Amino acid sequence: MEDEIRARIEEVRERIAAAARRVGRRPEDITLIGVTKTKPAEAVNAALACGIADIGENRVQELLEKLPELNGSPRIHLIGHLQTNKVKQIIGKTDLIHSVDSLKVAKEISHQSLAAGIVSDVLLQVNIGRDDNKFGILREDLPEILEGVSEMEGIRVRGLMTVPPIEQDTRKTRAHFQSLYKVFIDIPQIYDNIKMEYLSMGMSGDFEIAVEEGANLVRVGSAIFGSRA
Ligand SMILES: *Cc1c(COP(=O)(O)O)cnc(C)c1O
Repeated sequence: MEDEIRARIEEVRERIAAAARRVGRRPEDITLIGVTKTKPAEAVNAALACGIADIGENRVQELLEKLPELNGSPRIHLIGHLQTNKVKQIIGKTDLIHSVDSLKVAKEISHQSLAAGIVSDVLLQVNIGRDDNKFGILREDLPEILEGVSEMEGIRVRGLMTVPPIEQDTRKTRAHFQSLYKVFIDIPQIYDNIKMEYLSMGMSGDFEIAVEEGANLVRVGSAIFGSRA
């Protein structure tokens, strides 16, 4: 299993590097997150042995079950929708929560982080394609969310994340990524606890386009670990 995962990681890294070079970016500025949802801890540990340092899970329960079985100390990314009532369980267990999509969940992260005496790093998830089936903040609601989060302690916004709608035409996918990049660079850096450092976009089917359009965190599952049941 490790040999196969190693080969796939190598291939994904090469594709990221090639995409970066096409647009004059440095490959080392892009972090590959291995998305391990539904995959057993052995598969995750195989990826860690092959140099993956960042792990993404989309469900709180699954993450909590897998964490004690992981070797070393990978950076942990929560990338799936987070319900307010699950926040308490994961505070202090993640390095970055990508999926903050409401003031309500931000407030609970703030509250629980303060109680634990820590500051939690998060991204705001933006529904850039205005897809009814996707979570995320609509672009026009961002100023209000930023304003609200700026008054909260215990939470620090480090950037934006998106999952664009599935498109047949890759030009449309590219347009979604371009739109989010524009939002990302246009957000005023006026709040102490909001800095636009990370742009999390791109999955197995579209990470090269995302890198070409400015992503510095890519979330890749099936291209590394194989398809999910
Ligand atoms: C599952 C998932 C991914 C990875 O998807 P692949 O297509 O397998 O690479 C990335 N981001 C999120 C939010 C996911 O839920």
